[in-house]
Amino acid sequence: MEPDVKTFMSGSPISVDATESALGALDLMVDHGIRHLPVVDRSRRVVGVLTFDDLRAAFPQAISLREPPPASDRFEMRDVSVGEVMTYAPVTATVDTPLDQAAGLLAERRIGCLPILDEQGRLEGIITEVDMLQALATLLWTQRKNDASQEARPAVTLIDTLRSERDHILVQLGKYEEHEQEITERRRGGGLDLVEQGAEVTEAEFTEELAELAARRLQSLDHAIERAEDGKLGHCESCSGRIPAARLRALPGATRCIRCARRSETPS
Ligand SMILES: [Zn+2]
Repeated sequence: MEPDVKTFMSGSPISVDATESALGALDLMVDHGIRHLPVVDRSRRVVGVLTFDDLRAAFPQAISLREPPPASDRFEMRDVSVGEVMTYAPVTATVDTPLDQAAGLLAERRIGCLPILDEQGRLEGIITEVDMLQALATLLWTQRKNDASQEARPAVTLIDTLRSERDHILVQLGKYEEHEQEITERRRGGGLDLVEQGAEVTEAEFTEELAELAARRLQSLDHAIERAEDGKLGHCESCSGRIPAARLRALPGATRCIRCARRSETPS
């Protein structure tokens, strides 16, 4: 099952309404140690988001999340209302939004939280950057556990991966070759001035370089597939320890584990 925001959001979040004082909102943030407050109307529809950074930008006084503003500042701060400093029509998500999509929204829009709405568009939860990091940590941990249980039969899955990559490279090599031919024909056709000829040469060289890299990768894939068919793939030639599947996926030609490979590269 794909992870969605529901698993990682905070439900029933603390919220404020736009007519409340910004100072009161700041006190809420300090009390609860939070940096984001959804702003809702009477029917709990989200109309905005107020962040600690909004307040810091709005108040001339220095404010902190660690302690409420001193009495001497409070008098001057009391007249600002939430509606004057919040962000209107914030980006939101629903409980069914896939987690990766929500993370993408936070990153692309450079925002610190997403209010999460229910089917009627009412506030149901909130997901923040910190929640997202928590999710990432959890998912990476789960993935590592799954990878570890797959290590037991690496040859079967890995050899399939290598073969399918090999097929892709063959297709790609064909495309490079076609492209090189096109360039050759264009140059033979004549009618190009010096600048155009120069551009064609550069492109031809670049394509050739790409083709060379692909051919090299193909060679190491062939080698790896051969080793896999012999049942030798996944074991280090030097220490006969296991080479992790991730290393073989990145470097199919690897015949040694990373430790032995490093040791041999270190000048003695
Ligand atoms: Zn080794």
